[in-house]
Amino acid sequence: MTFDNVIGQSEIKQRLMSDLQAGRVPHALMLCGPAGSGKLALAVAFAQALLCQHPLPGGSPCGECTSCKMAAKMQHPDLHFTFPIIKNSKMKEAKDAVTDYYISEWRARLLSSPYFDLNDWLGDMGAENQQAQYYVAEADNIQRKLAMKSNQGGRKIMVVWLPEKMNQETANKLLKLLEEPPLGTHFLMTSNEPELVLGTILSRTQRILVPPLSREEFRQAHPPRDERQYLELFQMLMRLCYQRKIKDLREWTEQLAGMGREQQKAFLAFCQRQIRENFIYNFQQPELNDQSNEEATFSRKFARFINERNVIPMTEELSRAETDIAQNVNARMVFFTLALKIIVLLIQ
Ligand SMILES: [Zn+2]
Repeated sequence: MTFDNVIGQSEIKQRLMSDLQAGRVPHALMLCGPAGSGKLALAVAFAQALLCQHPLPGGSPCGECTSCKMAAKMQHPDLHFTFPIIKNSKMKEAKDAVTDYYISEWRARLLSSPYFDLNDWLGDMGAENQQAQYYVAEADNIQRKLAMKSNQGGRKIMVVWLPEKMNQETANKLLKLLEEPPLGTHFLMTSNEPELVLGTILSRTQRILVPPLSREEFRQAHPPRDERQYLELFQMLMRLCYQRKIKDLREWTEQLAGMGREQQKAFLAFCQRQIRENFIYNFQQPELNDQSNEEATFSRKFARFINERNVIPMTEELSRAETDIAQNVNARMVFFTLALKIIVLLIQ
């Protein structure tokens, strides 16, 4: 993973490389920006540059040295990763709840593509319905790893994915390390929601704002996968509600209830976007719409059902359902209630 593999973000790449060349790499760097903008890809590429033994004149990693080769396989002994996890049955004691249990899944995921989200990662851990987090044991684990001498005699890197998932207890244990890291140690954090990172951690990092990718870059980085399924489920919901097919809506509810909680939330967020897009579609100003071809095809017939009377209430119902799911309300109940409400709203 080098900067050549990072999609877009040329300004950020340049900034990181010039910091490296000027010897201005902070001990704790936090790349902040929207999900999907490639912060993890940037962090991993930058880590390789920091670890390269014979960087090219511009500061880019050579790709040839042992460090580069090990980093490319995510196997560099001085390149550490920490990320939210879920507890599994093999973790008998509290001290066992560390990332090392999932390191092979993590490497496989990163090697297949550094553009993934928490949903994908939960799926890899076989844990769709659980909340991933940083357990306290992981703070000790990080300290232990960074206390060791550099294996290759160079820098030591700790890539921290989604530090906003760190609770206070875990974060507190890392404060001292962040303040006075061992020589040559760098934390590279990537956060979607820096406002949720504890202030004490935030204040010890240098933040770089990573902008969202352009629509084209985003598609390149995230080939559609779940969205196709979401669109089908959205269309089914709207059709069945319009036709008031209660029995079929029960089956639809069962299908949704069988999905993981993170996926259910993602689906509801997707629906909110669809409602907005369909409302806008009625204005017949394509430049205002941000739809795939399949979405636009559906809108040709469906958009007229979304109007100024129901657009807000419908979005609110979807958003409420999303909150309920996040708060562990029974998914069957949430989705069936939602369907009944949409039946009423569609005739308005
Ligand atoms: Zn190298």
